[in-house]
Amino acid sequence: MRLATAEIDINALRHNLAIVKQMAPSSKVMAVLKANAYGHGLVKIAQCLQGADAFAVARIDEALALRAGGLTKPIILLEGFFDSSDLPILLANNFETVVHDENQLAAIEACQLEAPISVWLKIDTGMHRLGIEPEQFEEFYTRLKQSPNVKADTKLMTHFPCADDLNNHFTALQIASFTKLVKGQSDALCLANSAGIIGWPDAHFDWVRSGLMLYGVSPMLDCVGVDHALKPVMRLKTRVIAIKHVVSGDRIGYGGRWTCKEDTTLAVVAMGYGDGYPRHAREGTPVVIKGERYGIVGSISMDMITVDIGSNDKSIHVGDEVEMWGPSLPVEEIAICADTIPYELLCNITPRVSYDYQ
Ligand code: PLP
Repeated sequence: MRLATAEIDINALRHNLAIVKQMAPSSKVMAVLKANAYGHGLVKIAQCLQGADAFAVARIDEALALRAGGLTKPIILLEGFFDSSDLPILLANNFETVVHDENQLAAIEACQLEAPISVWLKIDTGMHRLGIEPEQFEEFYTRLKQSPNVKADTKLMTHFPCADDLNNHFTALQIASFTKLVKGQSDALCLANSAGIIGWPDAHFDWVRSGLMLYGVSPMLDCVGVDHALKPVMRLKTRVIAIKHVVSGDRIGYGGRWTCKEDTTLAVVAMGYGDGYPRHAREGTPVVIKGERYGIVGSISMDMITVDIGSNDKSIHVGDEVEMWGPSLPVEEIAICADTIPYELLCNITPRVSYDYQ
């Protein structure tokens, strides 16, 4: 019996896609499935998102896995391609690519493809990660349009670094500078990630790129998914494998880092950093057993976590289910306890965890 399980709620996933469409009713939806669909299972999640207009991944390997899984929708490579040897693979598999720098444009211009490919031109409006500089736009765009290797359906995009914060004016500046730059072009525009979809309606345009919110998780500061009518898709769960009575002064786990202040009872649960649970989750990080919250104590091990169940030793037994995050315990809250972001927690689920699609 595999104890550590990620239960995946397909109805919740489809509900969240419907929320994306409700929030951005005039936009096409690109479902972002990179990093194993944010830890939810790439092909399975794609199969359940037939209502999306396209899929997006970061790398070619992820896109090939989608095609091998029988998915026929448009697939966009958000990191783009690396060098000219990738271009025939893009063409053969009907992948669309982000183009974000001069090397890529030169590779496209120099190659001889049997048919043109679709391109999403990425412009850097202030994130300073990927994208051409606004000053390069005119010349770059003209060269792209002139290349026989590029289809006529070029889209224009940019990315937001701060859209999770509604008080940060930077996103509004990006929207303004982007729209000013591309004014007069008839190509489709794509700006919004989940935070843009939820918080910045002016950024919706022709396409939106939804990742985190599809999985029922909020990208916004100080929010959880249900605040936006989203439903958590993943429930990470395991079971109690031992109950242990300890007395005041006992030191618990590796390094003896937690000392019992009074006699208490511990539930040992089968989950650890070997499953992707964050080792730095602080003391008191909650888990849910039988509908009640209990706090983690002691160091998180590779396979186990100790939970202080106090005097509830009569009601909690070996074999009881433990929710580590999910509908009863927002992953956003665990991320705060572990000083990270929900994206990282979801992506870090390891192959040892079994998946149960419901
Ligand atoms: N667009 C790009 C370029 C991204 O890199 C990402 C994710 O990091 C997304 C969209 C989706 O972002 P989110 O998961 O916040 O919706």
